[in-house]
Amino acid sequence: MSSSVTGVIQDLERILLTPAQISERVDAMAARLNAELAGKVVTVVALMDGGLFFVADLLRKLEMPVRLYTLSASSYQGGTTTTGEVKVNWPANFDIQGQDVLLLDDILDTGLTLSAICERLLAQQPASLRTCVLLSKRRERLREVPLDDAGFEIDDEFVVGYGMDYQGRFRNLPCIGILNPNPAS
Ligand code: 5GP
Ligand code: MG
Repeated sequence: MSSSVTGVIQDLERILLTPAQISERVDAMAARLNAELAGKVVTVVALMDGGLFFVADLLRKLEMPVRLYTLSASSYQGGTTTTGEVKVNWPANFDIQGQDVLLLDDILDTGLTLSAICERLLAQQPASLRTCVLLSKRRERLREVPLDDAGFEIDDEFVVGYGMDYQGRFRNLPCIGILNPNPAS
């Protein structure tokens, strides 16, 4: 790993997933989508900001024509527990009727975010809707979300890196890790 991120990595209690593990898994997820969605034009609905790296890496491996909508969704507002209220900024021209939609997010946790978004997507009557997340936490869901693929199942711990933040920081880590309770920086 580059020495420029060494300082930030000291803030981790431990590394959960290395860049190589993430990349291998994202490649496999893309290969599956390439097989299942071959010949379609796919409308990707990508949740930001946490999904930034996952979406960028996955999309580069997709071989079919792709349209992209990015949505900002938040229910955490900087802390480590959900507020329960999902805020989404829907683009004014958002229209997925009759389209094959692939919804992407970084983590499935309580399920509140994805279920709220799925509900709104389904109301527009897409031709199909697939949901993929990089990480799925092993925990009880507050709302059930039909998931087509999850990169990794992880324990119910707060993770950062590879796009995911704690109070706006740590998104630039190339790995995914558990935050040190007493960060040095
Ligand atoms: P849910 O609505 O399923 O509870 O939470 C989904 C959203 O919460 C994810 O898209 C992600 O942005 C955020 N989230 C959930 N767990 C974590 C975590 O461990 N770390 C970070 N950085 N964000 C999380
Ligand atoms: Mg998110």
